[in-house]
Amino acid sequence: MITLKTPAEIELMRQSGRILAKALETVMKSARPGMSTLDLDVLAEDAIREQGAEPAFKGYQGFPATICCSLNEELIHGIPSKSRILQEGDLVSIDLGAKYKGFFSDMADTFFLGDKAPDLVKKLLLVGKNALRTAIETVRPGITLGDLGYSIQSYVESEGFCVVRKFVGHGIGKSLHEAPEVPNYGRPGQGLVLKEGMTIAIEPMVTVESPDVKILNDGWTVVSADKKPCVHFEHTVLIKNKGAEILTLG
Ligand code: MG
Repeated sequence: MITLKTPAEIELMRQSGRILAKALETVMKSARPGMSTLDLDVLAEDAIREQGAEPAFKGYQGFPATICCSLNEELIHGIPSKSRILQEGDLVSIDLGAKYKGFFSDMADTFFLGDKAPDLVKKLLLVGKNALRTAIETVRPGITLGDLGYSIQSYVESEGFCVVRKFVGHGIGKSLHEAPEVPNYGRPGQGLVLKEGMTIAIEPMVTVESPDVKILNDGWTVVSADKKPCVHFEHTVLIKNKGAEILTLG
């Protein structure tokens, strides 16, 4: 069921989103070569709990941690581990969620660890970020999910990259994942019409040569089928009367 949020619910989602954005900022500022991905997870969990919220991913369908931390050719759902050590030159993707007073927020960011990103990685990061921004700028009541997906797909493909189809964005609110599904591809004019008061997580995933992905034997980690680096960016967004408000801002 697609829910329209009341102003009071929206305010709680805004607070949930703010907590989450601050937690992610803490993690990204702290990330250094030599730290483990589990170190990042502990930082994130502490930052979320210190602000009175709970990690949303921990225990979700059995996921064991607060963040998903995915490196290089890993796209999403990487499991933090004590033995996974960050190295200079890693492309680091962090996805996390919070629950605050019953309301969820969800966001992701990808960054290069080090000073000299290869040109391909620089371009991937730029295109992934712009894809999310383009999508958010496209959002307003009256457009369809097809319009939204098309805005992402047409931009990413015009830059010579691919959008992943197997994983999509989603409605969010009293549950982490609500209807509708929010694909990163689509045809203009098709699909559900967006309405004021809906809250959705928009999360483009951009790959280099193939839009295909594989799930590793741990049952969680999703990697690019082309084994090239890939990026993931996500915000939780409110549809307002004239456009979108990003709820996951610090
Ligand atoms: Mg999400």
